[in-house]
Amino acid sequence: MPNIIDILKQNIGEDVMLPHADIAMRAVSYWDSSPLHAKALLRPTTTLQISKILKLCHEHNQTVIVHGGNTTCVQGTRSTDNDIIISLERMTAITEIDPVTGTAMIEAGAILETVQTTVKAKGLFLPLDLGARGSCTIGGNLATNAGGVNVLRYGMARSMVLGLEAVLPDGTIISSLNKVLKDNAGYDLKQLFIGSEGTLGIITRAVVKLMPLSTTKNTALVALPDFQSVIKLLTYLKANIGTNLSAYEVMWGEYVSAVTQPGAHRAPFKNTYPFYVLFECDGNDPIRDDERFMEVIETVYTKGLIVDAVLPKSENERQALWAIRDDFEPILHPKPVYLYDVSLPISSMDDYVKNVQEQLNRLLPQSKCYVLGHIGDGNLHFFVQPGSSANNTRHLSDCTIYEPLQAYNGSVSAEHGIGHEKKKWLSQTRSAEEIALMKLLKNTLDPRKILNPGVVID
Ligand SMILES: Cc1cc2nc3c(=O)[nH]c(=O)nc-3n(C[C@H](O)[C@H](O)[C@H](O)COP(=O)(O)OP(=O)(O)OC[C@H]3O[C@@H](n4cnc5c(N)ncnc54)[C@H](O)[C@@H]3O)c2cc1C
Repeated sequence: MPNIIDILKQNIGEDVMLPHADIAMRAVSYWDSSPLHAKALLRPTTTLQISKILKLCHEHNQTVIVHGGNTTCVQGTRSTDNDIIISLERMTAITEIDPVTGTAMIEAGAILETVQTTVKAKGLFLPLDLGARGSCTIGGNLATNAGGVNVLRYGMARSMVLGLEAVLPDGTIISSLNKVLKDNAGYDLKQLFIGSEGTLGIITRAVVKLMPLSTTKNTALVALPDFQSVIKLLTYLKANIGTNLSAYEVMWGEYVSAVTQPGAHRAPFKNTYPFYVLFECDGNDPIRDDERFMEVIETVYTKGLIVDAVLPKSENERQALWAIRDDFEPILHPKPVYLYDVSLPISSMDDYVKNVQEQLNRLLPQSKCYVLGHIGDGNLHFFVQPGSSANNTRHLSDCTIYEPLQAYNGSVSAEHGIGHEKKKWLSQTRSAEEIALMKLLKNTLDPRKILNPGVVID
């Protein structure tokens, strides 16, 4: 009996298959440079090809793992020699940009940054933005319902999608490439696929909403004396800058000191401070917006909410400030480093972070803990360096971060998703009934459990 590889070659053609020797030349993911494992890696160019591949894999009980840009922070693309990988890397077209409806139709493998620059050239703006923009794909962004730096103003990836095309695990194509904002004709099925981490279907195309490009951009990196000031500054900016406030990124002092150590990013201030906020406002009134921004900076300084500020004078200087926030390479060594992405109400954050730090000091006295986050939307990231080679450090660190969250009404995943990594912590955030419904959906759409098996739920 022919094996699945021969069947796929006969039905789809050999050109879709990466030469087997090249699979191990690829890295497991952005975070793990060890060689990739798979039975085969397929690079289809059309939705129809994906449909045929899934139909055959479904018929032959063949497991399939979906690859976008492979920047997953939660091992969402983990594979073995028994799995077939479908990579969207050859489906990258931006097939339509419609300035009248303010929409773009995009194939799922398009790199986020390419989409951002392509629509910008037409005077339009895709509000989705995250540090992995140069590698992550639109399909991966939607499969994970990505967040990023503009959520405060524009919402998560989910809120930017009008239409979606996806292929179910049995090969059925569900194409709903709507371009209108209002569409209440029955269930909003696209939302099933957004944020389901490739467990219910493969996203192949999407229609996203675009905004007019702003004409003003004002950015500041400010230093603050305590966390109360971080909250008061956010409240003040919301009240006085309103919806122009697009980013509010908070960094704890230890994080900024570590990423601006000699040889890393340039330190923005002569002194060090307990907290830093990088905030940005986008608007469309060149005279008034700049003036208003300066007034606000002066007022919050006079009120004592901020104690120092850097205002970039050029795009290069602005990017250097953003690099402090986005490029955390200087704290990724020595390995291992554990990355966490949680959310909780901003009013509880100070208390929670102090508890985590105290507990880590007790359980892992050699550890270092760096904290930052898109906290305007309740999102915190931790980088924990355990500082010990004992084999229970990951478990102790996980317990410290995740266990207290329930008491704060928090979530074990703000934006990265569950993947394989956080599965055992899902019940901290979701009830038994919610998890049972997730399993019911998975069993209904993928009864043979061939698509991204073991991601999110078992
Ligand atoms: C430096 C850095 C910064 C980051 N910052 C942020 C941030 O600010 N906010 C944030 O939300 N995330 C962030 N991430 C995490 C990651 O970039 C996002 O989760 C991103 O959306 C993943 O996109 P991807 O194309 O790389 O998907 P992948 O990593 O390839 O896949 C992610 C998951 O989606 C599935 N998948 C991929 N493509 C498809 C598809 N077409 N159809 C169905 N399923 C699919 C995969 O199987 C996997 O389960 C960051 C990552 C890095 C490395």
